[in-house]
Amino acid sequence: MRKHSFFTIGLTLLILTLSACGKNPAVVRDTEAEVTEIREAAAPEQEADTEEETEAPAFPETEKPAESEPVKDSEPEEYDYPSFNGEPSVQINGNKPLFTEDQMVPESFEEYSDLDDLGRCGAAFACVGQDLMPTEERGSIGEVHPSGWQVAKYDGIEGNYLYNRCHLIAYSLTAENANEKNLITGTSYMNREGMNPYEILVANYVRDTGNHVLYRVTPIFEEDNLIASGVTMEAQSIEDDEICFYVYCFNVQPGITIDYATGDTSGPEYTGQSEETKSETEEVVIPEGTTYVLNTNTQKFHYPECDSVREMNANNRLPVTMTREECIEAGYSPCGNCKP
Ligand SMILES: [Zn+2]
Repeated sequence: MRKHSFFTIGLTLLILTLSACGKNPAVVRDTEAEVTEIREAAAPEQEADTEEETEAPAFPETEKPAESEPVKDSEPEEYDYPSFNGEPSVQINGNKPLFTEDQMVPESFEEYSDLDDLGRCGAAFACVGQDLMPTEERGSIGEVHPSGWQVAKYDGIEGNYLYNRCHLIAYSLTAENANEKNLITGTSYMNREGMNPYEILVANYVRDTGNHVLYRVTPIFEEDNLIASGVTMEAQSIEDDEICFYVYCFNVQPGITIDYATGDTSGPEYTGQSEETKSETEEVVIPEGTTYVLNTNTQKFHYPECDSVREMNANNRLPVTMTREECIEAGYSPCGNCKP
């Protein structure tokens, strides 16, 4: 398997400077479905193939490890990122985030990079604590047009919309609504299948423990592309080691071709099939054990049986095993129809 090529120069140094990072993200009991996904998606680092050299952007200067002895002489002199091979996300750097010891301070903050000359987002960095999490319903983000933004509808994508305004740091973590420094043009697939399981993991942890998680999401743009190739997500809990991951989520949509320079896309044409027609043919599969179904757009939660679950845009439909209280604490409010 060649999909998980990434560079390990500086790894020795990083291991020395990072705190112990032994646990897989897949420990939060409320997200068993997502956990399975993460495990499947997670690439053992042994699979890294040092021979493959793919073009990839260098790490941001501040994150680039200092010159240090390469682990292997054959490694290229820069980080690169894995190629998409059917999984929405893969571990990178042995799943160890690049935070430094002196950043491991249990005080909440959030900071967002200024847009660059092309209007593109940079890293969004936070120490997530309960005090940053949302206390009111999510507002509109429709006025923000991230770099490369366009409306693109296709058949074969549930809900039909290819692109989402994709939060770098999820609303459920830092309650940022229409912050242009925190929204990129992301595929429905990346948003829902790549990033969301990790976001829920962190949100559940902070909510349950009151602890802090150092958390950074960095969009990776190759050259002057307006659409990110993917995002890296780093997280490390500060008061303990429950949360520790470093993953790359692919900004792809299976079946759709994306021109990352412009945002233009091609694929199976949207035929304007009505929602009514779709709901007759579309089987909505709710995993066993699901307690509630979240609508990640409206921030409502429903009983799995609620008609709204079938009617909602499939891109926003997220079955969870959370309790009612947990849904509310995560920023969701109960549906007015099924009244969960
Ligand atoms: Zn409902």
